[in-house]
Amino acid sequence: MRTFPPYRAQVVAEIPVTTRAERERALAAAGYNAFNLPANMVSIDLLTDSGTGAVSAKQEAAAAAADRSYAGSESFFRFREALSELTHYPHLLPVHQGRAAERVLFTNVLGRGKISVSNTHFDTTRANVELLGAEARDLPCAEFGDLDSLEPFKGNINLDVLEQLLTGPEAGRVGMVLVTITNNGGGGQPVSMANLAAASRLARAHGVPIFLDAARFAENAWLVVQREEGYAGKTPREVAEEAFGLVDGCVASLKKDGISPMGAFIGLRDPELAQRCEALLIATEGFRTYGGLGAHDLDRLARGLREVLDPHYLEARAAEAARLAQLANEAGVDIVQPPGIHALYLNAGRLLPHLPASRFPGHSLACELYLAGGIRCAELGSLYIGELDENNELVTPAPFELVRLALPRRTYSRGHYDYVAEILGDIAKNPESVPGYRIVEAPKILRHFNLTMAPVA
Ligand SMILES: *Cc1c(COP(=O)(O)O)cnc(C)c1O
Repeated sequence: MRTFPPYRAQVVAEIPVTTRAERERALAAAGYNAFNLPANMVSIDLLTDSGTGAVSAKQEAAAAAADRSYAGSESFFRFREALSELTHYPHLLPVHQGRAAERVLFTNVLGRGKISVSNTHFDTTRANVELLGAEARDLPCAEFGDLDSLEPFKGNINLDVLEQLLTGPEAGRVGMVLVTITNNGGGGQPVSMANLAAASRLARAHGVPIFLDAARFAENAWLVVQREEGYAGKTPREVAEEAFGLVDGCVASLKKDGISPMGAFIGLRDPELAQRCEALLIATEGFRTYGGLGAHDLDRLARGLREVLDPHYLEARAAEAARLAQLANEAGVDIVQPPGIHALYLNAGRLLPHLPASRFPGHSLACELYLAGGIRCAELGSLYIGELDENNELVTPAPFELVRLALPRRTYSRGHYDYVAEILGDIAKNPESVPGYRIVEAPKILRHFNLTMAPVA
């Protein structure tokens, strides 16, 4: 079917235009770490899809009319209603962003020695598990290991290994199962409803709570409608409701599918657990009717949560991602297949075979995209999850050397993505000219945010 994005620009923001010489100076000054670049030196910012979506005129109108009351604000009731009709959870707590939701929930579910099991923990999610002295264990399905395979649900959790864990000697240590939809750390791949239902049955049979990390609940629902048998006739809203219905609760960053700059929530069924979370929320985030958010955020989210489930919007967004994937392939750059929605994951290891893992080909490609085109993106490879020795030499590489091009919601148009594909094509014509990098300084925790690097001639 022919289609188009069901929105148009009404207010626009200027994009900086820079020269290669200016970008070379800026990247060197940033220690070759894109997180240190000033945004006014970036032209196309594909670092993240978090908080970077364009808000609608109606969201801004709602934000202007927000009720800033400390307790019982009307904005909170609108926010709660939007979440209630989506999740049907009786207990809904606002928090300022996803990682705060993680800290508040996990503090009340995990503890020292416990295990959190997931298809893949997102980086802050893992950090919040580990800060409690618990272990974050990733059980991605076997299909995920083949980057080129066209399996439709490579975000699934590995049910066989999950069952072994829940029936084996470590069963008593499992504190929760957390299913990330879509699987951001696992190539942005979706989770099928069949897999989620089976994981839920297993968890419940063994008395372990199961939660969603639901940052991209709408995009996962869209991919289920497209790919899973029996779901073709359903709306994304029906699928999302079913997913929330299969589990005991969720944490969700709403900076993604809430299409707003800030926000998140915790949803729960268990009243006793909800009460403990609420106490920690009030002590550390804010009162239960704002949770660290401004009233304008609550109202933007109440609308964003409905706009994101518009099938025309989701169809246009998925089509844009698929089109960029095809342009990248035509330019000679392989991506993790099949393309998802919120990001494309470029196979840098394959594009730059002259660079060993210890020279960080993903980082090299990300730097080259910036130098050649002012495009900012993030490495997901050995720099991100490889193991380093005390001299910052790589001892255990990551299984893949990827670069994530995150696609902000409603922000860029075809012209921008055509440009990205052209720059990728330029790099792919002469890949041997791309230099490797070495680590100059690396902090011990969350290192990819704070690394400094240098090119190796
Ligand atoms: C973004 C994200 C988080 C953390 O949310 P923030 O709002 O950035 O704190 C957690 N899990 C997943 C899957 C995410 O994508």
